[in-house]
Amino acid sequence: MNKTNYKNIKNSSCINCLPFFKGSIHFAFFCFFVFVNIFPGIFPLSALAEEANLFLQAIQNNLKVIPSKSNDPIKYRLLREYGSMWANQSRNIVLPPQIAFFSEAETIAFHAKLKLEKLAGTNCLLQSSAANALVQAQKVATQKGLKISPRGSDSCIRSYDTTYKLWLSRVEPNLDFYVKGGKLSSKEANLIRQAPIDKQIALILNLEKERKLFFDKYRATSILNSVAAPGSSQHISGLAFDLAEYENPKVRAIMNEFGWFQTVRNDLPHFTYLGNVQEKHLPALGLKKFTSGQFTFWVPNIPE
Ligand SMILES: [Zn+2]
Repeated sequence: MNKTNYKNIKNSSCINCLPFFKGSIHFAFFCFFVFVNIFPGIFPLSALAEEANLFLQAIQNNLKVIPSKSNDPIKYRLLREYGSMWANQSRNIVLPPQIAFFSEAETIAFHAKLKLEKLAGTNCLLQSSAANALVQAQKVATQKGLKISPRGSDSCIRSYDTTYKLWLSRVEPNLDFYVKGGKLSSKEANLIRQAPIDKQIALILNLEKERKLFFDKYRATSILNSVAAPGSSQHISGLAFDLAEYENPKVRAIMNEFGWFQTVRNDLPHFTYLGNVQEKHLPALGLKKFTSGQFTFWVPNIPE
């Protein structure tokens, strides 16, 4: 600790503790801790930890087991990709108690707990609070001569099987492509195909990381930027909506006004209901802004 820092500390309330800590190494640590927390900008690492803590605090009552990078890197990755949903503090919604469901039976049991509502004139089911907020947004859009509508027939709640089929629609053709191109042996491809789903997700993500064999539609980036891992899609919760008019910034602003935000990096039509919350309050929930072109995504502020 240099002289300047010490001078700052002397001017802070920390100096009041001096008689108590005098002559002790604990005093130095205590003052360092106080200083770091008073001036986090000078200690960016501390500031980062603090921001990550905000997210972990926001989700601590919403998620039974919070994975860490060291104890469960795959689930941690899924949390980082799709975890904004758990920052929702509304009492009127039900959140999945776990990062992912690994079977249709588990998903059906979760869906049985939800109060769902259908958007008029569609087959689109959402949790009722989320549906109500969307209907309010639709009314405002209509007043402004705009429209808010689902992008397709699977734009709202999804079954486990739907998310599994979407996952396979990327995995299967890419396995074939890599085997044909000699980048993967038939044996490796079959091992991936036969693996239980949690293991299969890990194997695919590992191939992307270690061998740069990507599984998105164009084999340019991670499969997770293209489809969610089975059972981990926010759509399973009934709190996600794929918007047809996502390219219109005025429509996106109305969605934001009613608690609907883009939360999955580069998934442009995908919006998540974060509750009755304004955009300016999202950083306090541990979410950080990620921009790509004209689009803004609010993603978990936790380290890679
Ligand atoms: Zn979506």
